[in-house]
Amino acid sequence: MNPSEILRLDDRTRQALWQRMIEAIETYLTGVPEARVAPELDPQKVRSILAPLDFSQPLPSIEALDFAAQNLWQHQVHTPHPRYFGLFNPASTSMGIAADAFVAAFNPQLAAWSHNPFADEVEAHLVRTFASRFGYDPANADGTFTTGGAEANHTALLTALVHTFPGFARLGLRSLDAQPTLYVSTQSHHSFIKAARACGLGTDAVRQVPVDENLQMDVPFLSQQIAQDKAAGFAPFFVVATAGSTNAGVVDPIPTIASLAAQEKLWFHADAAWGGAAIFVPELRPVLEGIQQADSITFDAHKWLSAPMSAGIYLTRHPHILGETFRITTNYMPTDASGLNVVDPYTHSIQWSRRFIGLKVFLSLLVAGWEGYITVIRHQTAMGDLLRQQLTAAGWEIVNQTPLPVVCFVDGANSKGRTAPYIEGVARQVVASGDAWLSSTRLYRDQPVLRACITNFSTTPEDVSALIQSLEEARRKVLQGI
Ligand SMILES: *Cc1c(COP(=O)(O)O)cnc(C)c1O
Repeated sequence: MNPSEILRLDDRTRQALWQRMIEAIETYLTGVPEARVAPELDPQKVRSILAPLDFSQPLPSIEALDFAAQNLWQHQVHTPHPRYFGLFNPASTSMGIAADAFVAAFNPQLAAWSHNPFADEVEAHLVRTFASRFGYDPANADGTFTTGGAEANHTALLTALVHTFPGFARLGLRSLDAQPTLYVSTQSHHSFIKAARACGLGTDAVRQVPVDENLQMDVPFLSQQIAQDKAAGFAPFFVVATAGSTNAGVVDPIPTIASLAAQEKLWFHADAAWGGAAIFVPELRPVLEGIQQADSITFDAHKWLSAPMSAGIYLTRHPHILGETFRITTNYMPTDASGLNVVDPYTHSIQWSRRFIGLKVFLSLLVAGWEGYITVIRHQTAMGDLLRQQLTAAGWEIVNQTPLPVVCFVDGANSKGRTAPYIEGVARQVVASGDAWLSSTRLYRDQPVLRACITNFSTTPEDVSALIQSLEEARRKVLQGI
């Protein structure tokens, strides 16, 4: 066999493969609303499907593709399902799906600018566009696409260290006189704890500031903690406002934290991975008031902009800090673009060879336009309001306050309705029914709650009613059981 046909396949086979792939995608997207939302969890079953595959016998390409499609159908939580009321995993935009296929085929390598002027400039254009939407001056802003919010938060921590401690980049943490400390709330995303470990700060450097009853960071406590740490010889350098918490969609008091950060000379980071999308909608914009004061912002296009996973963005109003943090020189990287006023992406990112993450965001935005996205975000927000109304009417009690469509609730109609066995039992029952997917979590003072988020642009009022009905059945079954 011709060696290139081993991997590229011959022309006829390849065309049949593309055909089948497109059919399989279309069948999935149109058929998934009829499927169970969540699979039964049986690791042994999945492993026994894989065990016989030892790669000794080449498989026909269509057969291999069908094998993948069939097992993805059967063994995943269908995050693109309109009754997936889950974490911030949306359905994918069709332009995003097409873009990811293009990226795999053209395979641009986003390390050296000279290798892909178009891809690099698309991302630079998007960075300026988003920076400007968040209120930064696009001429003095910078940013980079990341694998997601976790990498963007990690990038924020690194840039803050480089900015604050001039010796850090070359001499490392050991050169510092004092142990740096950072401040997040107990509701912040846990990626900061991982990032603290990855940066060599250690998890004890992370001060988890308590929240008030509204789940917002307790800023007076923050202020005291900073003072106490300074008095004890620590070096506070970084504070995070969460703009749309994972648990409850709560936005910290951004302007107050911004002023305190300015006063204490801390790098102020806004983690708007999901909630950042509010900035695009005039009536939701005020929720993020003050975000332009942040030194850096995390925003995930694979959340509320519905780009396929994954597409994170780190933005900053310090135009030189990414270069100071990540630029190194090598002999082997191409220099064809030296002398041009351009940025090699590898000098602004933790990553080196990087896939063209921006294309799925670019094509989605080109086709929907801002107006399209505003319509979608408004629809999801309205579905969140509808869910709140219907839950309240059915005797559930809403316990979080946010204009964004994450709803946390307990059962106000039952004496056991606030206990962990009841809450977790109801969530398990709904998921096991296959009718919908939602989760349980813990909020203020560890209160167990149910959590439902409108993550999907195609969730309709009928889907909301179906969730209410599924909860009703779960409630009955759980009450019988305890
Ligand atoms: C999702 C999320 C993250 C983590 O982002 P990934 O894209 O999953 O890496 C961080 N912070 C917040 C507030 C999030 O919602």
